[in-house]
Amino acid sequence: MPELRKDPIINRWVIIATERARRPSDYIHHHSAEHLEKPVSCSFCPGKEHETPPEVMAYRQAGTRPDTPGWWIRAVPNKFPALSPAMSDFNRKGHGMYDMMNGVGVHEVIIETPDHNLTIAQMPIRQVQEILWAYRDRFLDLMTDQRIRYILIFKNHGASAGASLSHPHSQLIATPIVPRRVAEELEGSRAYYNFKERCVFCDVITQELLLKERIILENNNFIAIQPFAARFPFETWIIPKRHSATYHNIDKNQIMDLALILKGTLAKLYKALDDPPFNYILHTAPFPRWDEYGSFYHWHIEIMPRLTLVAGFEWGTGMYINPTPPEVAANELAKIEVEI
Ligand code: ZN
Ligand code: ZN
Repeated sequence: MPELRKDPIINRWVIIATERARRPSDYIHHHSAEHLEKPVSCSFCPGKEHETPPEVMAYRQAGTRPDTPGWWIRAVPNKFPALSPAMSDFNRKGHGMYDMMNGVGVHEVIIETPDHNLTIAQMPIRQVQEILWAYRDRFLDLMTDQRIRYILIFKNHGASAGASLSHPHSQLIATPIVPRRVAEELEGSRAYYNFKERCVFCDVITQELLLKERIILENNNFIAIQPFAARFPFETWIIPKRHSATYHNIDKNQIMDLALILKGTLAKLYKALDDPPFNYILHTAPFPRWDEYGSFYHWHIEIMPRLTLVAGFEWGTGMYINPTPPEVAANELAKIEVEI
């Protein structure tokens, strides 16, 4: 029998196909041809710095000038930004019943390595840590902009996950509003907290540690699980064990453990599913009053391999059909050995 499961945070129902669970090998052939070709000239590679807008941040060797080689992490504005910081005000207005405002915001690319072919799954752990520090530094810089309400850091890997360039990079979009998906999580975790006086994410961690059915990796500071009501096959959440609403308060030990678990998880997915296309997103509390969410919200990373198509039913209902039960996925991923 297929099973309906409810996500405890936003009360979203998913359909889990239990009859004939699809395993990693069922997915591999679907995307094998989609690897992006290395272009003759990549504007994210060292030596091509002039092809991007001037950098807003870089970790680079002492004595090297901005927008020249010598960097190991580089953040630049997106050449074709979804939102722009240039407009000074929102100019909120209504046309009859409709609301609109200027597209104020920030859209940046964080180039994760000078090496065109090195994904997080294969990078030295030290470099993964640097990426995670860069995320934090961009938060600390941009959260001082009073116009910004939300900063989303995300990654598209592979053409069918929306990556248009193969050079490893993450993106950041800062918006002047709190996006719908984030608002749903905030509302859901607030309601849970009001009812039980506990953080729903902390409860998820406790429950998963007790059940040991959906854990794929764990260390002192983080746990990586297949969520109970996973929308997608091999969907993985990485949750800090220490309750915190915001990513930007992360400390050195946590960065070290996050690098280990992020690389470990991506390496397992890489091996199990032959370098699948995926998206990951970092969910943290909105600005500027992030401490308002301190008691009930809990930052986390959601990794979504793109193995199935989101089609009519999903668009029409907001429900998802997942052909691989998360317990099956967890079992497959947990047994895969990776070197970190
Ligand atoms: Zn490149
Ligand atoms: Zn919590």
